[in-house]
Amino acid sequence: MIDIGVNLTNGQFKNDLEQVLEESFASGLKAMILTGTDLESSIECLRLCETHSEKYPNQLFCTAGVHPHDASSWTAETKTELRQLLENPAVVASGETGLDFNRNYSNKEEQISAFEYQIELAADSSKPLFLHERDAFETQFDMLRNCRDDIPQAVVHCFTGSKEALFAYLDLDFYIGITGWICDERRGTELAGMVANIPLDRLMVETDAPFLLPRNIDPKPVSLGGKSKGKSRRNEPRYLSWVIKKIAECYGMSEEEIAQATTSNAQEFFQLPNLNA
Ligand SMILES: [Zn+2]
Repeated sequence: MIDIGVNLTNGQFKNDLEQVLEESFASGLKAMILTGTDLESSIECLRLCETHSEKYPNQLFCTAGVHPHDASSWTAETKTELRQLLENPAVVASGETGLDFNRNYSNKEEQISAFEYQIELAADSSKPLFLHERDAFETQFDMLRNCRDDIPQAVVHCFTGSKEALFAYLDLDFYIGITGWICDERRGTELAGMVANIPLDRLMVETDAPFLLPRNIDPKPVSLGGKSKGKSRRNEPRYLSWVIKKIAECYGMSEEEIAQATTSNAQEFFQLPNLNA
């Protein structure tokens, strides 16, 4: 299993990061891709990968980018520094980037220009895009269609959109990242109903920890109404198997088949070194 989206530099992991890492790899994860969401966090993610590269060789990688929410923080230096970060072999994708017109923490123009530049960085570095999109499908899709031939690949992380959006992204031959959103019996049913349309060679999985704790975890952590000793509603990479379990049910396949397919997809997509070596 490879978790393609974890936010390990989030403050919720500040006090027990080492234990979280240990438990994640003990749970059967082969590798994790840490998500960089602004310049500072991208640098922090890379530092975390580097300081742990001896203990966990070829197991920790990260993205470098600026999330649409943070697009207003963009400066000329951001460009130069992101470009430099992408030269590092542990940095395996440009992003998280894209458009989010849901809350508009940064205005549309800022989001679009930061996104444009990160597309350029993907093209120049020959590294794939790690995409975020919310309530901005049409604009985002147009931008991506126009640059499709310039970028090596892209993954739509934490996909929660419509069936039309799913097929449109698949038409561009993009990969789709599925989180524990699919395990949510209240808001994830639409996604659960359509997920099996994703060809098995375009599917990847992620926890988005510490967010989106899968609601199918059994026994349930305390925060989901269970009696076991959970610390909080914090999600962790070791819960990735619950996302895989739900996806396997939707495909009518075994968990092992989903785990194997998503692992080899992530390995190829992010061009990870041989994880068994
Ligand atoms: Zn996102």
